[in-house]
Amino acid sequence: MAADQKTEKGTISIHTENIFPIIKKWLYSDHEIFLRELVSNAVDAIHKLQHVNVIESLKISDEYAIDIHVDKDAGTLTVKDNGIGMNAEEIRKYINQIAFSSAEEFVQKFKDLEDKNQIIGHFGLGFYSSFMVADQVEIRSLSYRSNAIGAHWRCDGTTTYTLEECAKSDRGTEVVLHLNADSKEFLEPARLQDILKKYCNFLPVAIRLDGEVVNDRNPLWTRAASEIKEEEYVEFYRKLYPFSDDPLFWIHLNIDFPFHLKGILYFPRISTEFDISKSHIKLFCNQVFVSDNCPELIPEFLTPLQGCLDAPDLPLNVSRSYLQNEPQVRKIREVISGRVASKIVDLAKKDREAFGKVWDDIHTFVKYGMMRDDKFSDKVKDQVLFRTSAEMKYTTLPEYLERNKERHEKKVFYANDEAAQATYLKLFKSQGLEALILDALIDSHFIQFLEMKNQGVSFERVDADVTQNLIEHDQAGKIVEGADQKTADEKIKEAFSELLGEKKGMSVRVESLKDSSVPAMLLLAEHSRRFKEMTRMMGREMGDALDEFTLLVNFTNPVVKKIRRMKDEGRTEDARLLAEQIHDLAMLTHKSFSKEQMEAFLERSNKILEMAGKE
Ligand code: ADP
Repeated sequence: MAADQKTEKGTISIHTENIFPIIKKWLYSDHEIFLRELVSNAVDAIHKLQHVNVIESLKISDEYAIDIHVDKDAGTLTVKDNGIGMNAEEIRKYINQIAFSSAEEFVQKFKDLEDKNQIIGHFGLGFYSSFMVADQVEIRSLSYRSNAIGAHWRCDGTTTYTLEECAKSDRGTEVVLHLNADSKEFLEPARLQDILKKYCNFLPVAIRLDGEVVNDRNPLWTRAASEIKEEEYVEFYRKLYPFSDDPLFWIHLNIDFPFHLKGILYFPRISTEFDISKSHIKLFCNQVFVSDNCPELIPEFLTPLQGCLDAPDLPLNVSRSYLQNEPQVRKIREVISGRVASKIVDLAKKDREAFGKVWDDIHTFVKYGMMRDDKFSDKVKDQVLFRTSAEMKYTTLPEYLERNKERHEKKVFYANDEAAQATYLKLFKSQGLEALILDALIDSHFIQFLEMKNQGVSFERVDADVTQNLIEHDQAGKIVEGADQKTADEKIKEAFSELLGEKKGMSVRVESLKDSSVPAMLLLAEHSRRFKEMTRMMGREMGDALDEFTLLVNFTNPVVKKIRRMKDEGRTEDARLLAEQIHDLAMLTHKSFSKEQMEAFLERSNKILEMAGKE
């Protein structure tokens, strides 16, 4: 019979006995990627035609599209394009003589790879992935060449195929999958729509599912930044992350040298549910979605970034650990880190107030990044903002140092718990002194880092010591007391030490503070406190922060003066009552009381009120 004579039967030239069981077994996860592969081939075929259209002046003016169609009765899924097409010779060459000669070696080499799906396309296995879901696959194709004859290829998942002529009148290729029993899900339009949205959403050719276009052909990252409006960036973000709050700001990358990299990186508003340990960037390769988990592409400290990267010349067919050390990938990380740093500097310089508004959301990773990456640190260091106790809301370290250099040189005062350190901050404020608020988890490390990077600068918590700026140096008050400064102080010190008795770790110091409203406060030396905090953070208990402290008694406070007089007058018990109360009040800002301590404190408070009532 004529038809039979024209039908060519043959064996697909692969050295491996049968690649199909391998494909099926090896690619057991995520069967859905077959659709990505077929659609990508269709896009390639259209690109090829567009290319020859220009080169060979063919004057083809068709609207290019890829049509996906299901026939539930027949159990088939068809992917059809109007691209370059193939004649029988090309089918033999491109489909039959597949690059499977090295299949065995390839499977061996990459069998341990985490994300196998990523690499299929890059090994010429793309088309054959359709055998994961189909018992039989047909290709019907008509080449763009004039007088071309349609070719019909069929294969049932063994190594034999048939190839014959067919009457196809429209140029392009149609791949028909006869879905296997386990893959009927791919007859459901909703399922197909999901897959197309996931992998093909931003492909540059119209993809129609039952006639309707499902993709955005010109995703934002492919366009010039200069012609994109702010709203468009936000809108695009919403498309990528429909359940997130709007982003804080973004960076549009468009790099052609020394590699190609396009993309938009968004800084998200980090909500509590946001998993900062996981990468959130979507990776594309020529607009084909590849993966949304490629932590190696961005510096670790920028893990919270969202958005997309299109890296067409990355070797994605290699393992994760290789990718990590691949020079090009390292370069990408450097470029991203550099661009993020520039963006931060731009924002800070352009509008400090607006920058202050996003600062709370980004400060953790900026600080972390500075500690991890010297180049990043050098670029952004002068833009790091600190909340200050002074009227202005935010300041930078250079500004703070400049403003305060006359008063306390290179010392930087800070508070890490505004509520607990309120008394100290009030004191600072009353004397026009300024403290930085460093109350984030990362700040204790960041302080050490800043001291290391800034020669001579030392950070001191507001309760570490009393600065000379807080002390009254005019000693007239003490003369009135009938003693010179030294003896007056000594007497108060003696009185308090005696009244309070032995208290664990406590030493008493007397100063005349300019602000007389505070009777006493605790001082914890900066370095031993930090050391204790660090060891506690590392899980090694080094005792309580209050194991060693100074009770600073304020000479200018009227109650303090009164305590001394009471003692001189022999009212020792009343004096003790007040001294204990002052001690407890100072203590309260640093720790919470036990039940017994609280009871004693309340009882004493009542007695003092009684005493006040009588006087
Ligand atoms: P890859 O796309 O990685 O080269 P495939 O196995 O998917 O590997 O495809 C092999 C070859 O078959 C392609 O390179 C292309 O030449 C040809 N081909 C596949 N699909 C089409 C199509 N829809 N139109 C034209 N040629 C195609």
